[in-house]
Amino acid sequence: MGFIILFLLLLWLFQVVFLQGTYQLLKIRDIEKVAATILNESGSANYEEILNRAAYDNNMCILITDKYGFSPLYSVDVMAGNCEIHNKADTTLYKYRQRVLNTENGMLISKIFNEHIKSQTILFGLVIGTKEDPQGFIFLNTSIDPLNSTISILEEQMVYLTIILLTAGLILSFFMARRLANPIVKITKSAEKLATGNYDVNFDGEGYDEVERLASTLNYASYEISKVDHLRKELIANISHDLRTPLTMVKAYAEMIRDLSGDNPVKRAEHLGVIIEESNRLAALVNDILDLSRIESTSQSLNLSEFNITDKLNEILERYKLLSEQQGYVFNFQKDENVKVKCDILKIEQVIYNLINNAVNYTGKNKLIIIRQINTPKYIRIEIIDSGAGIPPDQLALIFDRYYRTDKSQREVIGTGLGLSIVQAILKQHNFPYGVQSKVGEGSTFWFQITR
Ligand code: ADP
Repeated sequence: MGFIILFLLLLWLFQVVFLQGTYQLLKIRDIEKVAATILNESGSANYEEILNRAAYDNNMCILITDKYGFSPLYSVDVMAGNCEIHNKADTTLYKYRQRVLNTENGMLISKIFNEHIKSQTILFGLVIGTKEDPQGFIFLNTSIDPLNSTISILEEQMVYLTIILLTAGLILSFFMARRLANPIVKITKSAEKLATGNYDVNFDGEGYDEVERLASTLNYASYEISKVDHLRKELIANISHDLRTPLTMVKAYAEMIRDLSGDNPVKRAEHLGVIIEESNRLAALVNDILDLSRIESTSQSLNLSEFNITDKLNEILERYKLLSEQQGYVFNFQKDENVKVKCDILKIEQVIYNLINNAVNYTGKNKLIIIRQINTPKYIRIEIIDSGAGIPPDQLALIFDRYYRTDKSQREVIGTGLGLSIVQAILKQHNFPYGVQSKVGEGSTFWFQITR
């Protein structure tokens, strides 16, 4: 609307208010042009013809006199003797001559009302030579057509134009506001709610494509933020719970040693054993948290090296020997031929450790864990298979999240809930595909592929 009003205002100014002034300026410019022609062409063979043409083309009377303002040297009368310079007494022309000489630069431009034709005219006078030593005078006279009727027609048209444009502008801005501004206002309100922590807001952006896209992006963002917020709350709850349990134990057993078992070497050793175990759990938890935040926060460059993955797997399994001897776990390594790969050896080792630890923790009664190395031309696939309870399909996508654990009641028994997040962070950093297949009651297969 502002733009339309500005546009109308300009139109009114130029078409109605300034029209007369502009027209007169143009007339004066014409006069000056004719005067220049008269001066420049003097002496030409067809001087008279040139003057005639200039006079008729511009509807202008021309009179060139001697230095006294008398005896016309040249004269073209286009107004049948009704102008201000023809058919005038000598005294009148002499008066004009004096007025020209009285001007500063020897040029007179003056408006005179002509009684015969009932119209304003412009009288132009110019000294030929200098004011001190005039050679002659040029007088020009032309009428300024009255523009009043033209202006009143324009005014009437402008009234219609104003009404049409204002109405169109109103309708247009109404629709634009409905389609563009209203959704944005709604989106802004929703965003304000989101900012105060209400993650259930819905961004409604009907209207233009771009607004709809903005709304759906914001919906997606608010969904992600709510997830992060949920995770953050869970993370704090979990960390504090995880830290509190071992700390309570450490404190309780330390007090027990102080008050009761300090003198009893057997009891004391047992209680110290619990303290040490709990401290180890604490240390493991803190280490996992640190590991994860280090891997996730820095784009820490990978320390790539070439090594034999088959040997590495053998070496890792060697360290589980004690576990299999003491607790009856069976590790079955099914491998293709020895092969070298290039990746960050320490990090990939951690991935394998975390996956085997999970398999140990969650495998079934037969305590069987299968480790598979499958060679293909494009990648080496490593699979860690257990025969445990498996993971329900709706939770498969979640287990790689931080602190996600399928069975919350098991918290105290095993794990920190960070193992798979670390696995995920490392494999993502390497750009290696990974995943899990699982059937409830039959077991799970965790896999990743080292690209060759
Ligand atoms: P945790 O320290 O609890 O094992 P992880 O991040 O390693 O943490 O695993 C997250 C969750 O995924 C576990 O709590 C468990 O519920 C599930 N999970 C991981 N590995 C297995 C597996 N081999 N079999 C069944 N469930 C598993």
